[in-house]
Amino acid sequence: MAFTLPSLPYAIDALKPHLSQETLEFHHGKHHAAYVNRLNELIAGTKWADAKLEAIIGGAGPGALFNQAAQHFNHSFYWNSMAPRAGGEPKGPAAEAIRKAFNDFASFKQKFTEAAVGHFGSGWAWLVRRADGSLAVESTHDADTPIAHGTKPLLTCDVWEHAYYIDYRNARAKYVEAFWNLVNWDFVNANLK
Ligand code: MN
Repeated sequence: MAFTLPSLPYAIDALKPHLSQETLEFHHGKHHAAYVNRLNELIAGTKWADAKLEAIIGGAGPGALFNQAAQHFNHSFYWNSMAPRAGGEPKGPAAEAIRKAFNDFASFKQKFTEAAVGHFGSGWAWLVRRADGSLAVESTHDADTPIAHGTKPLLTCDVWEHAYYIDYRNARAKYVEAFWNLVNWDFVNANLK
């Protein structure tokens, strides 16, 4: 059973002015689509052909198959981490969990921003819940993903250049600043359940 590119959970131009339609056309329609297509090529006719995505990520070991599978997971998670008319400060369980872990929202925002802007090269910034229940900010390199390390992702920001180069060129910090206007706290709250 082949994997399919999930539809964006909003219109292709819905994240303007923070992320342009062109960025989403390339990032979702070209980059994410390519990961899905390559993943399907790699699993066809193998023991992974009918496996769940999480099983491939957990069992593939380092290499092309892990990279394609993890990038499919990471991008699907990223699209849901954003929403139009979102951002601002969290409400509900996310607000409470962030206050408990980071003292206040501003401290969390600073820590996540540093992880996103400061990550060297391609990768991802994450808010995760660790196995002991505590919340933490992490970054992963290239395709790496928290679910390969026993931590539960709650929120992510893609910091590969392809995520921001059309709109912000080399200014990753400007992109991460804009990301805060898009954070989908409803998704974070759902992940905390
Ligand atoms: Mn990406």
